[in-house]
Amino acid sequence: MCIVKHKLDIKRKLVNTRCPHCQHKLDAATEAEVAGKEVPKAGDISLCFYCGGVSNFVEAPGDMIALEKVSDEEWLDFPSDLRAKLQRVSRDIIEFRKRKEHERHG
Ligand SMILES: [Zn+2]
Repeated sequence: MCIVKHKLDIKRKLVNTRCPHCQHKLDAATEAEVAGKEVPKAGDISLCFYCGGVSNFVEAPGDMIALEKVSDEEWLDFPSDLRAKLQRVSRDIIEFRKRKEHERHG
């Protein structure tokens, strides 16, 4: 499992650049799948690097892509191994954030 940070300023712009879960402004996407894709595209899954929330990249007008929350239905449609993987990474992100927060406040 590797997490790759992708800049979103190439080829296609990301609109609605806030995490639909925590509303944190996003300037890069964390791709949960294996590297090799340069730009996230509609249908890709995104994990918020701030809250671990799972989102979908969706088509938006003007050759743009946007982030939308994964609905409960969509979540249940994911293969169970993918769900397990996403949950694991999501948990790692949350723990990482907690550690960071702890360091910051001593
Ligand atoms: Zn978030």
